[in-house]
Amino acid sequence: MVSLRDSFSRKIDYLRISITDRCNLRCRYCMPEAGVPSVGHQSVLSYEELLRVARIAVELGVRKIRLTGGEPLVRKGLLDFIAALAKLDKPPELTLTTNGLLLADQAQALKEAGLSRVNVSLDSLKPERFSEITRRDQLPQVLKGLEAAEAAGLTPLKINMVPIAGVNADEIADFARLTYAHPWQVRFIEFMPVSSGLEYRPEQRYPAAQIQADLEQVAPLQPIPRQGILGPAKIYQFSGAKGSVGVIPAVSEHFCGDCNRLRLTADGQLRPCLFSVEEIDLRELLRSGVADEALAEVLVRSVKAKPERHCIQEADFQPGKRPMQGIGG
Ligand code: SAM
Ligand code: SF4
Repeated sequence: MVSLRDSFSRKIDYLRISITDRCNLRCRYCMPEAGVPSVGHQSVLSYEELLRVARIAVELGVRKIRLTGGEPLVRKGLLDFIAALAKLDKPPELTLTTNGLLLADQAQALKEAGLSRVNVSLDSLKPERFSEITRRDQLPQVLKGLEAAEAAGLTPLKINMVPIAGVNADEIADFARLTYAHPWQVRFIEFMPVSSGLEYRPEQRYPAAQIQADLEQVAPLQPIPRQGILGPAKIYQFSGAKGSVGVIPAVSEHFCGDCNRLRLTADGQLRPCLFSVEEIDLRELLRSGVADEALAEVLVRSVKAKPERHCIQEADFQPGKRPMQGIGG
């Protein structure tokens, strides 16, 4: 049987599916204030279509599926979709990345449907700053969402924070100290200037080395060996802490050697790399009545199209037109 191995011998076993391009926040580094023009209801893959792709991907060896967006919790019917994914033969680990706004209401039902855990994106613990970054005054809802996710057992809970120079990078230590009181993994992701036309300049990227230096000011960092399906984060713990901290050097280091993922956008485009300009259309094929084998072939072809490494730091890198909200992070 064919499996998903790329041209550089990397095994691809992690599929990130963006289920919607809609969002209830307007983070300045991700979305324009007015939102983005809708890709149109017809263009968004139905849950039946997504389930078919997921089933074929699992048959090809995918062991983990992350649902993302836009904001995945705004799409209706999500619980039934998760329940269907959980019933696949050899069910993959099911995770979801959310801004947390609707988590307080949905956490328990998400867990019961079969979701393993969530990553919650949160860029400030200060209400005014949260409003400034996200253009919405809703920090309390996110904090309630974190509590609800914990109570529902969507754990280990991971928090994604994107430090940006001159905006929120001075909160790195405050976020890191959360791990003394909570068994969370707080991950700091380098800001990626991946899309043109959004706020915050590339010079405001707060490099991973600087993030690490700030963390070392809190307390000595003890590296934790990585386990399970590997991701790009370097994980550490402070002595006596319940949780851990992670640094994701998305731009300044090439973690591409360990890349194990493929991305599917809400409108049915496969992206071999987060920074790809190239996309491979799956939607047309899905809707043309082809057999599973033909879809499997396209998945295999997308994996073969993965570049050896991203070139975001090279002089001729061109930011793509799709903001992160259209890719899913
Ligand atoms: N709406 C959900 C959320 O915010 O978690 C899921 C989609 S969002 C696009 C996924 C992740 O991408 C979030 O953690 C967000 O902080 C991150 N992100 C968006 N734009 C980014 C950028 N330019 N650089 C780094 N991370 C970014
Ligand atoms: Fe929405 Fe997530 Fe983008 Fe913020 S980062 S605008 S929550 S998709």
